[in-house]
Amino acid sequence: MKKLIIARYGEIHLKGGNREFFLNRLLKNLRQRLGKGIKVEHFNTRIEISNYDGYDEQEILQKVRDTFGVFSTNIVDVIESTKDAIFECIAKIKVNESFKVNVNRADKKFEIKSPEFAAMCGGIILDNNKDAVVDVQNPSVTINVDIRIGGRAYVYVDDTNDNSKGAGGLPVGVSGRALVLLSGGIDSPVAACLAAKRGLTVDFIHFATPPYTNDLALKKIEKLKGILEGHVGKTHLFVVPFTEISREIQKKCDDEYMITIMRRFMVRIAERVGLQLSKSDCIITGENLAQVASQTIQGIASNNFCATQLPILRPLITFDKSEIITMAKRIGTYNTSIEPHMDCCTVFVPNRPSIKPDISKVEEQEKRLDIERLVEESVKGITC
Ligand code: ATP
Ligand code: MG
Repeated sequence: MKKLIIARYGEIHLKGGNREFFLNRLLKNLRQRLGKGIKVEHFNTRIEISNYDGYDEQEILQKVRDTFGVFSTNIVDVIESTKDAIFECIAKIKVNESFKVNVNRADKKFEIKSPEFAAMCGGIILDNNKDAVVDVQNPSVTINVDIRIGGRAYVYVDDTNDNSKGAGGLPVGVSGRALVLLSGGIDSPVAACLAAKRGLTVDFIHFATPPYTNDLALKKIEKLKGILEGHVGKTHLFVVPFTEISREIQKKCDDEYMITIMRRFMVRIAERVGLQLSKSDCIITGENLAQVASQTIQGIASNNFCATQLPILRPLITFDKSEIITMAKRIGTYNTSIEPHMDCCTVFVPNRPSIKPDISKVEEQEKRLDIERLVEESVKGITC
């Protein structure tokens, strides 16, 4: 008998002919996250993680759970799938509360049907534990026997708090690449995580306006990147100098259109970086409908026209702020996001931004600017 961690995958089951591609990616991501020496192998619709002696088992388990594509996990005893071996394993389990036994007989060649075998295992628990009582409706613990095809069975105990749940979604890397506009606020880190959850490999672009924004603002972005990498794997950060553009807009355009025009520049630059440097398939923002004055449908739409070759995806578009905050807390970015920092949009924010920018007026204003030169120079000044 030996202990190992098993991981189950969810949606990958639905992928038909592409299943191998999705599965291989998940195995690769797990191996990368867990590091050298730890074994990650596919066995009969389960992933087995073993050979982690000397590591903290709970830490390994948490890393497995946090990997997108993993639906659920358990620490199990793995044994031969014979009646005697399973009974021997069940006899060692200590139970002093209500319980039930759950048998999953994936291997239909196993000679005893599931309900009957569950009752037999339950009998062994009752014989060996004087305080154990059967409760099939509402047990304190469930003893699971998973009889796999290929001669092995997993035995594990679940308590009532459902801590076996994995991150869900799809393995990072199966859906292409995304360039995420990362601002340092609460929203964009959550948007990045949701994008990765659907299988996108994530890179970041941040617009900095020194000396108005300082090193601390950049440190904060790097810190967020680090936290996010715990969920999405390795990423790349492009830092774009945005001071000259902001000043030009402030000098030459009407106040009410400043935010709209700044956002449009961000999108133009992101598209260029996405096409030329990060080889991205899409741009992601943390925009959310009607959250702030610049995020009316007209404001959001005015950004769309600036990206002509890459789609802009907005994973948070319909979420309530409270839902976004809950997600930010869960992924661990919230406390960093709420640290005070200056963003270009806070520095250059006008008194009365246009709530419903008229696109023809915006374009009229932009004629006062040398768009191509400003974009080109910003891209040239990028630091990675
Ligand atoms: P966040 O919490 O992500 O900052 P927000 O609610 O503050 O979002 P805005 O400030 O209006 O909203 O920004 C909308 C989106 O524009 C952000 O989610 C982000 O994707 C992008 N963005 C804004 N400022 C920057 C910046 N300085 N660098 C990169 N992206 C930015
Ligand atoms: Mg912001």
